[in-house]
Amino acid sequence: MKIKDPVCGMDVEDSTPYKFTYKGKTYYFCSPMCMAEFKKRPEKYIK
Ligand SMILES: [Zn+2]
Repeated sequence: MKIKDPVCGMDVEDSTPYKFTYKGKTYYFCSPMCMAEFKKRPEKYIK
């Protein structure tokens, strides 16, 4: 299933190893960089 990377806006597969659960919701990322960026400032990316 395709899902949007909240940091860069790219579509990623939900089978990606780059995922992170924040406040009960799981977010998926295209790369470790996007995941690290999200972890630093999650509130900036969840709208
Ligand atoms: Zn990304």
